[in-house]
Amino acid sequence: MRKTTFLKLKLREASFLSRGLLSTRHPVLAHLIPMRRCNLACGYCNEYDHSSSPVALDVIKRRLDKLAELGTSIITISGGEPMMHPELDEIIKHIRLRGMIAGLISNGYYFTPERIKRLNKAGLEYLQISIDNVEPDEVSRKSLRVLDKKLRYLAEYSDFHVNINSVIGGGIKNPEDALTVARRAVELGFSTTVGVIHDNDGTLKPLSPREKEIFQQVKKVGNKDHARLNWFQDSIAEGKPYNWRCRAGARYLYICEEGLVHWCSQQRGYPGIPLEQYTMDDFDREYNTEKWCAPTCTLQCVHQVGILDNWRDPQKTPAQMAEEQAKKDAVGEMVRVE
Ligand code: SF4
Ligand code: SF4
Repeated sequence: MRKTTFLKLKLREASFLSRGLLSTRHPVLAHLIPMRRCNLACGYCNEYDHSSSPVALDVIKRRLDKLAELGTSIITISGGEPMMHPELDEIIKHIRLRGMIAGLISNGYYFTPERIKRLNKAGLEYLQISIDNVEPDEVSRKSLRVLDKKLRYLAEYSDFHVNINSVIGGGIKNPEDALTVARRAVELGFSTTVGVIHDNDGTLKPLSPREKEIFQQVKKVGNKDHARLNWFQDSIAEGKPYNWRCRAGARYLYICEEGLVHWCSQQRGYPGIPLEQYTMDDFDREYNTEKWCAPTCTLQCVHQVGILDNWRDPQKTPAQMAEEQAKKDAVGEMVRVE
């Protein structure tokens, strides 16, 4: 990434961050799914199929317009494998046109010099690739040996920030691979992070003593900001619950291929409201609702968004929220009758 582009991105991030701290009433990050289809089939993943069609560009543009109206700062395009969407560049251009930061999560398979240059031109600002192991196996083919050539292309041609995420847990055989991946990422000039893989309801599979040890080593290779923003991982790696306020459905939104708002990739179905009908009442309800799955949640990006508001606005359980709503409705009814 060129130095000037990097500085511009950092400035934009800083301004969005201050806005996020000053006001709680807008989403900070939205994950948008333009297609559920994926070319791979990772053993731990519950976020793909092999048959669905891409969502039409005009439909995606309307969803992005709505997210911009809600005041969303960052859009991360995810999947499935979003590089399979035939109009990905147009989606990125529209995100930038609406003044939001454009990010992409990909498995890395489709990067060629020509494709990277087109992404530069579209205005992509950051990319994350998760690499699960060194050699492909039955759990994952997101492997350093397969992807190393793609990483070299990215190092040479990309004008966007590249982060390589290595992973521990979730049935990955050799935890040492995470260390090899992180070192290679740093060697190529990328930032690097480490994630604990969730099981298929988004919660934790306990790490073995060896995994814990490697996890601490990989964190030292990665960037310090990441380590600072991910204290929760230390508790999770130790198998201890972490006390935080998940603001999914409000500060963080997950928009599936059908255009429904969900808490996150692992809690699809809640609240399950179409984005075009999503109001600030929905936002406020979800902002204030305590999530049952929070103590063992491993989703890094939602934790990071949560940091902005962890110190303020305690949440209530869904039962308390429902009781409060019933009281409000009763008062409204009385006022209307009078
Ligand atoms: S590449 Fe990503 S979306 Fe595709 S199966 Fe693997 S984890 Fe799931
Ligand atoms: S705590 Fe929040 S981000 Fe984590 S699984 Fe639950 S709803 Fe999703």
